[in-house]
Amino acid sequence: MTMPASLNLRVVTPAWTGRPALDDTWTAHAACGLGTVEAFYPDHGDARTREPRRICAGCPVKLACREYAVAIGERYGVWGGLGPGQLVRIQAARNRAAKAARRAARDYATEENQHD
Ligand code: SF4
Repeated sequence: MTMPASLNLRVVTPAWTGRPALDDTWTAHAACGLGTVEAFYPDHGDARTREPRRICAGCPVKLACREYAVAIGERYGVWGGLGPGQLVRIQAARNRAAKAARRAARDYATEENQHD
């Protein structure tokens, strides 16, 4: 995929996020050159995400990218075609589901102990 010149490429060091290293089994196929495109990190409140989302839509590693962003609790940029608000909502929903599963397991164990 050819990057549009309007994306204003800017190389940043991968360590700037302080996040775990990206898994190169999927990042090697990133349509955007992951973590190197300023347009994927619009300023807070910036609605100019149409172009990065368009690129993500055709990216072969969109789902892996999205999962990575959710897993690390990413709060900035466009990842897997989703903006920060959408990523945060997925993280919150998964946290609620995990909490409910732990509560159900604890309740089940308590019930089992009462029958012993
Ligand atoms: S889904 Fe988007 S942000 Fe993620 S690697 Fe692909 S183009 Fe880049």
